[in-house]
Amino acid sequence: MNAVGESASERSVVVIEDDPSIADLIEMYLRRAGFRVLQAATGERGLQLIEQQRPVIVLLDIGLPDIDGFEVCRRIRATSMLPVLFLTARDGEIDRVLGLELGADDYVTKPFSPREVVARVHAILRRGQPVKPDTSVLDIGEGIEIDLARREVLVHGRSVALATREFDLLSHFARNQGIAMSRQQLIDGVWGADWYGDDRTVDVHVRQLRKKLGDDLPLATVWGIGYRLG
Ligand code: CA
Repeated sequence: MNAVGESASERSVVVIEDDPSIADLIEMYLRRAGFRVLQAATGERGLQLIEQQRPVIVLLDIGLPDIDGFEVCRRIRATSMLPVLFLTARDGEIDRVLGLELGADDYVTKPFSPREVVARVHAILRRGQPVKPDTSVLDIGEGIEIDLARREVLVHGRSVALATREFDLLSHFARNQGIAMSRQQLIDGVWGADWYGDDRTVDVHVRQLRKKLGDDLPLATVWGIGYRLG
């Protein structure tokens, strides 16, 4: 599902990766995060898809059967600043990604967790395109949508009433999907760094969110850290 007000192409991701098991895994997680995913198993096919589909980001393997990922990145950079997230296999590749200054926006090292990949994608896109709070609807999957303008949360189309801080906390999670955050980080992000209070405030609000939004809320407790949405 795409965020309301954006066309499908604005949320497309091209994944250039010749290992189908890796590409499929990434695709599954990105789709759950609301992206449209297009796979290419060769560099040339990837460049074609980028031209035709105008994705918001490219995930790029380095060892490809035709031209390698470095060359693909060079050709992308010749015409655009489209964000590129490298999927690297070896330390030597990381050195080249960083050393050649190809204009890669970030990289993840295999074997990576698909959640990590989704978190990086969100982080890169946030850098380039700040969320427009007056127009955005955030889709957090499992039938839950957050309308930032109306400050309304819909679960399978049904409006659920949240208190102010509960809504703020939920939208903060939604903007940082896939990222585990400590209670202190959540307090800083939602209540503000100069708020005097107790970590348990976060737990109380999380409990309320779980109670009100039910089992569909993909909010996990991360032991020793805090909480993570998605
Ligand atoms: Ca490969």
